[in-house]
Amino acid sequence: MSRPSMSVRAAVLRQAGLPRPYTDSKPLSVEYVNLERPGPGEALVKIVSAGLCHSDLAAIEGVRRFPLPVVLGHEAAGIVSEVGEGVTSAKVGDHVVLSFVASCGRCIYCQSGRPALCDPGRQANRNATLINGAKKFSKNGIVIGHHLGVSAFSEYTVVSEKSLIQLPRELPLEKAALFGCAVTTGFGAVMNTARVRPGSSVAVFGCGGVGLNIIQASRIAGAATIIAVDVLDDKLELASRLGATHIVNSKKSDPVDEVKKITGGLGVDYAFEAVGITGVMEQAFRSTKKQGLTVCLGMTSPESRIVIPSTLLIDEERQLVGSFMGSAVPVRDIPTLVNLYLQGRINLDYIISRYISLDDINEAVEKLATGEAVRQIIKFK
Ligand SMILES: [Zn+2]
Ligand SMILES: [Zn+2]
Repeated sequence: MSRPSMSVRAAVLRQAGLPRPYTDSKPLSVEYVNLERPGPGEALVKIVSAGLCHSDLAAIEGVRRFPLPVVLGHEAAGIVSEVGEGVTSAKVGDHVVLSFVASCGRCIYCQSGRPALCDPGRQANRNATLINGAKKFSKNGIVIGHHLGVSAFSEYTVVSEKSLIQLPRELPLEKAALFGCAVTTGFGAVMNTARVRPGSSVAVFGCGGVGLNIIQASRIAGAATIIAVDVLDDKLELASRLGATHIVNSKKSDPVDEVKKITGGLGVDYAFEAVGITGVMEQAFRSTKKQGLTVCLGMTSPESRIVIPSTLLIDEERQLVGSFMGSAVPVRDIPTLVNLYLQGRINLDYIISRYISLDDINEAVEKLATGEAVRQIIKFK
């Protein structure tokens, strides 16, 4: 039986790598597209809020390549408005946040508690399909792909039920999108990947949506010294409000020297890189003490290479690791983080720079590229 489709307004990326400013080149086209109704194991979600993240920018710039066209957006919250056959994890009316890796539950990574590394989930993301292989968007007979199984820059989206994480009603949906990426990635890097210890020292390179959450997570974890590094004073100001004990503008002074100075010549226990620039990853690595741990989270292109002195790695036992989606188990970690927010211990208001409408998306992408905005959230009616 063929299912009827609906017409929805969505932001479609048809060509990557267009020139700046994006206010002129308009890489995202806001248009009506067809969306098929949910099939078995799928759910239709009415998007309430969707955040613009550097991973969206990486797709627009062509730094991360996907089959095009694609409906972008991977950080979102909304309301389940229809479920397909056999769906058991959600019902109509549920408030949900969307996970940007649908996990199969059966592969070796899912079985060993690492759903963000799920093989079929990551393969589907590379192919711009849902985890069951489906593409639900189309226009004039041409199929349009899904961004990370979510495609949130759309009034409605269809996702696998494996992408749904339930939210409590007390959580305002217009802020809840942040739990889909920025909060989970930042807190996860601190709590799952690094396991920051009380009393330790931390340096955070890059104070965007993820970096600011690394700072507040480090504060909650009990880090005694939290050094925020960025090139923009506005972001450093936010970092101070969220718990940074020291700030360094890396445009004005060498951040490695500054971190060493602040830590009495030692370096930090943990350095986090949340920019996606390999040179900054190298700075983060050099700013740690012996046995220090560097965690890299920023999105880079597959061609990027990090160059680090091997003696620092071996003779000084420093460690360098990556963190994807904060090494999170979304069904376990998101409710924990939502609870911390509801207790008033996580601040989202400083992370949200402004709310915009879908029609303002290219202007918002430009602001993301210049760095003048932290998180801009598209609010749907
Ligand atoms: Zn993201
Ligand atoms: Zn899996």
